[in-house]
Amino acid sequence: MGSSSDTAYTVATAPPSPTPTSSSPPAATMTTVVLSPCAACKILRRRCVDRCLLAPYFPPTEPHKFTTAHRVFGASNIIKLLQARCRRRALSVYLN
Ligand SMILES: [Zn+2]
Repeated sequence: MGSSSDTAYTVATAPPSPTPTSSSPPAATMTTVVLSPCAACKILRRRCVDRCLLAPYFPPTEPHKFTTAHRVFGASNIIKLLQARCRRRALSVYLN
């Protein structure tokens, strides 16, 4: 018995469909809001996310606010405070 394994798979080798690339790139005239990191994230070298807790309190235009608070409370305490505050605010909204 000859082990003739002729598994003839017809592999459909479809040629890469040429995607019609339009020569015009996406319009850069759109108002792209480039969010600069808030003062806190900038100083802490954190990644300032979209819903940054610190951003409303420490706008990038007022870095001294954060440096002062940072010196007094410490970064982790500020973040903790704001987190607690946010939770309380959410609660008060819920209770009212
Ligand atoms: Zn931030």
